[in-house]
Amino acid sequence: MKNSKKIVISTLILFAAIVGLVLLLNREDETAQETEQTASSKGHPSIEGQPTLGETEAPISIVEFGDYKCPSCKQWGEVVYPKLIEDYINTGKAKFSYINVLFHGEESVLAALASESVYKQDPENFWAFHKAVFDAQPATQEHDNPWVTVDKMKEIAAATAPNVDLAQLESDLNTEGTPLAGEVSKDDGLVQEYNVPFTPTIIIDGVMLEDPFDYEKITSLIEEGAESNE
Ligand code: CA
Repeated sequence: MKNSKKIVISTLILFAAIVGLVLLLNREDETAQETEQTASSKGHPSIEGQPTLGETEAPISIVEFGDYKCPSCKQWGEVVYPKLIEDYINTGKAKFSYINVLFHGEESVLAALASESVYKQDPENFWAFHKAVFDAQPATQEHDNPWVTVDKMKEIAAATAPNVDLAQLESDLNTEGTPLAGEVSKDDGLVQEYNVPFTPTIIIDGVMLEDPFDYEKITSLIEEGAESNE
């Protein structure tokens, strides 16, 4: 009898914890919706020192605030990014910059540091590394399990960015006092300044998208922007 009572009590505690968590997550969603509307009044974020794909002179600037640990960012990279590259980056109409977000804790920081190190050491191959890190993110619910490790980052860099000195990368991943921590906190500063509500957050010439997957909206913002720049 005692044992079954214990089981009932633990089940109740577990249930309450789950309900609490669900409520908390829902509330975060709501605040995200609210800040989304107001963030665009700040204009376009500075892309100085950020990895940027496409022609420097391209008239439209697109920024992704992304997190290597975020499943929607992986999905965005697979669904929207290739179209964007083909339609607008390769055609010289727009350029694309990536800024790190640290919403998923230590592993976000580690992947962000790795990306900064690769960008600094081998900028030409940054985008190959960037894509490969998202490819390495488990596609199932297991993305919450730890998968961003120093070894994993070295393995991906070795496969994608041959000019990266792996010992240097490893030392850059030692978060204590690495000079690249400044780059990561610069990105985090932009996340705060722009009230980045979720990842990926896409800003096109100062306009924050409510739905980063809305390709029609992306197209119209780029086309309108290109027209007004003419
Ligand atoms: Ca950066």
